[in-house]
Amino acid sequence: MILVVCELCGAKNATLKLNVEGSVMTACHNCKSFGKVISKVEQTKPVRPREIKKVIEAHNQAVEQPVETEEVLVDDYGKIIKTLREQRKMKQEDFAKKLRIKTSMLSNIETQQFEPKFDTVRRIEKMLGIKLIKKRIVEKQKINDFNTENAEPTIGNMIKFKTRKN
Ligand SMILES: [Zn+2]
Repeated sequence: MILVVCELCGAKNATLKLNVEGSVMTACHNCKSFGKVISKVEQTKPVRPREIKKVIEAHNQAVEQPVETEEVLVDDYGKIIKTLREQRKMKQEDFAKKLRIKTSMLSNIETQQFEPKFDTVRRIEKMLGIKLIKKRIVEKQKINDFNTENAEPTIGNMIKFKTRKN
């Protein structure tokens, strides 16, 4: 509880807002009769320093967190492999042999019916001199909704929370 000083007697227990001859003043219960009661003094629960520290720590952590990426095959890897293989006048059988995979597997890779393992892809990349793996930013689920049970406190919703209480 924040102690509000009564502007009429100086007591630190003002609970009312009075209209005293046209001006708004805070007043304790004893000074009530000096004016007309407008409303109660709004009591706002102060945010404890420990809570603020926690929120700031969580905020800083979120800000400093490096962007997470994952590696994925390019969309049209099959077409690229097939085109470059053919440009080098390599038969599927020969290329498959160099890659140490079955011809049927290479065929499936080229038609994108089969997604090759990354170590196979790396060998293809090296042989064809082209990148087939790209980095993609991992989308993280946002947890900003203060109304949900598992919500993390953020600076933003702490302000929202405070505003709501005021
Ligand atoms: Zn008073």
